[in-house]
Amino acid sequence: MLRLIDIEKVYQTKTIETVALNRVNLTIGKGEFVSIMGPSGCGKSTLLSLIGLLDEPTSGTIELNGRAVRSYSDKEVAALRNSKIGFVFQSYHLINDLSVLDNVELPLLYRPGVSGKERRQRALDALDKVGLSARTAHFPGQLSGGQRQRVAIARALVGQPELILADEPTGNLDSVMGEEIMDLLLELNRRDGVTIVMVTHDEQQALKTERLVRFFDGSQVS
Ligand code: ADP
Ligand code: ADP
Repeated sequence: MLRLIDIEKVYQTKTIETVALNRVNLTIGKGEFVSIMGPSGCGKSTLLSLIGLLDEPTSGTIELNGRAVRSYSDKEVAALRNSKIGFVFQSYHLINDLSVLDNVELPLLYRPGVSGKERRQRALDALDKVGLSARTAHFPGQLSGGQRQRVAIARALVGQPELILADEPTGNLDSVMGEEIMDLLLELNRRDGVTIVMVTHDEQQALKTERLVRFFDGSQVS
């Protein structure tokens, strides 16, 4: 589904050049749940931003369903990102003055061909999947951290993406809530077949996923 071939990412500022990723080769198959681990600064966020089509590699090729991402126009890449990829962040990134339901509807707001009624129904379905049907009218500030992350996961799911990218999704949660979120991600992967790539610092969580990829200093070490 997704292939990274000889990926290199170099950040160039006026005075320093940082090689964030060095010849990375990684294939992520449909339905896989892959965790990425490694020390701070080893390139994990850079990797996620490339996989998420938020940034481009300095060299190498990213293929999505067999076609090089660079062969698409910027507009097509934006459309691919919006339709195929859902993002979950450590700090939730919810909009505090929108209700839970409105937050989850957001990714569908500018999607062509989705009526208001359908948008609402799909958001309700996504909230049902994460077990938050009873909180649709709440605001993020009225929820626990674990519940906020569930809302963020529902928002990632609502566009029915092929791939969910999660950047330390349990990093701000205590161990009990962290485990709940991890169980939810595992269930979405196993039951619904959602492909997930997750960056984590938690070895126990990483070992629960079917594949663990370790990075060190911009390179894949296992
Ligand atoms: P991680 O997520 O594993 O902590 P990052 O991908 O954030 O690692 O960073 C990898 C390396 O690239 C680090 O040395 C970091 O300082 C550098 N880096 C990341 N983003 C930028 C940027 N926008 N400009 C310059 N250097 C960057
Ligand atoms: P932190 O854990 O430091 O708060 P997050 O996990 O929230 O960071 O975000 C991880 C990375 O994704 C950051 O580098 C951030 O700049 C970037 N990011 C956050 N939100 C978005 C977004 N909506 N679109 C694109 N990139 C984002």
